[in-house]
Amino acid sequence: ADIEEGRRAYQQDREHVFHSWSAQAGLDPMTVLRTEGSYVWDGEGRRLLDFSSQMVNTNIGHQHPAVVRAIQDQAAKICTIAPSHVNAARSEAARLIAELTPGDLNHVFFTNGGADANEHAIRMARVHTGRHKVLSAYRSYHGGTDLAVNVTGDTRRFGNDHAGVGVARFLPAYPYRSYFDSTSEEEETTRALRHLEDVILLEGPESIAALILESVPGTPGIYVPPKGYMQGVRNLADKYGIVWIADEVMVGFGRTGEWFAVDHWDQRPDLMTFAKGVNSGYVPLGGVAISDEIYQTFAERPYPGGLTYSGHPLACAAAVATIQAMKDEGMVENARRLGTEVFGPGLAEIAEKHPSVGDVRGLGCFWAIELVKDRQTKEPLAPYGGSSAAMGELIGALKAGGMLPFANYNRIHVAPPLNMSTEEAREGLRIIDEALSVADAHAV
Ligand code: PLP
Repeated sequence: ADIEEGRRAYQQDREHVFHSWSAQAGLDPMTVLRTEGSYVWDGEGRRLLDFSSQMVNTNIGHQHPAVVRAIQDQAAKICTIAPSHVNAARSEAARLIAELTPGDLNHVFFTNGGADANEHAIRMARVHTGRHKVLSAYRSYHGGTDLAVNVTGDTRRFGNDHAGVGVARFLPAYPYRSYFDSTSEEEETTRALRHLEDVILLEGPESIAALILESVPGTPGIYVPPKGYMQGVRNLADKYGIVWIADEVMVGFGRTGEWFAVDHWDQRPDLMTFAKGVNSGYVPLGGVAISDEIYQTFAERPYPGGLTYSGHPLACAAAVATIQAMKDEGMVENARRLGTEVFGPGLAEIAEKHPSVGDVRGLGCFWAIELVKDRQTKEPLAPYGGSSAAMGELIGALKAGGMLPFANYNRIHVAPPLNMSTEEAREGLRIIDEALSVADAHAV
């Protein structure tokens, strides 16, 4: 009966649903009939190990009973209320987030997701500094709304690019494919920071409101910043009076084995944006955590922005229950342990064995496998912004092996739920190891 229902849903989808980022005609989306824990079931009822956490958001896995119950309980009390009123779920979510975030990020403005969190963070920075320009990195993603996608430094910007939004870009630190011909992490840090300071000076520091940066760039490649880089960003922001916005939409709430990725480097951004993992996406929610100094700008002066659903009770109740479950079940510690004990060593072994693997890198439950045709030249297995037959075959082999993977251009990402068991994590690595023989056939 489920499978019949799935077939009907598929047909209606193709007749009436308009999908994100896609040419609509050729689409063949996978139907999901059921989800639980680390698994999803496709339209044929086949179980797949979710190594994607969907859009890297189901950090606590699927259908966590405590969070499902919290949403049901909240729905029975107050489903929705205007944002001007006090609502207990929002108050508690804000308190918990302020407690977990680093430094003096003591106030929270809630949004519907990550893109509008970044839009609002930029607006706050602009009003706070009285400046307009925003600096962002190439190979970044900040969301699909007009400003967020223009701040974005990947190909999704191309169809939306327009002048006048006031964005300037810099090249990120990316040790595997260094833009600065670096041969060591130290060199990469020094040269990437020198380049960033040059961009600031060439753009005019007095015109720059904010520098927005994913703390570990996610979809663009999970390239972990080299040692010293984030401290350098903090120093440059301080030196030129620029607001540092840490985009933790994908990496916040435990993904990298710390509550927030900036915690790895003990850094304190001025604004931090979050979404996804805050409530595992069970109900849409995002937000901006705000430093005391920026909060003071809006102590007397009205903030020129708002949303009907700022702090939606169902979303905030889900956040409270999610954070509680993550603490009770030690999920951030589990993510760190899986990173150091299973994914780190397991992926290093895989890299050694397979000629198609150019690089593996990551932290916690957040890893990239970068595939190449030739390890010497590092020629990617699919071009930047595109796919290839080889990558298509690899994705097919992973699915046939029983996995739902996250793939982007020439990379496969390992981004499972943080509460995955060691056995499930090892099973995922085994599926990857087997499937990679397909990619090896395209490599020298
Ligand atoms: N920022 C980062 C780093 C993201 O990964 C994403 C989504 O993938 C966004 C922002 C946008 O979030 P949303 O899709 O919730 O608007």
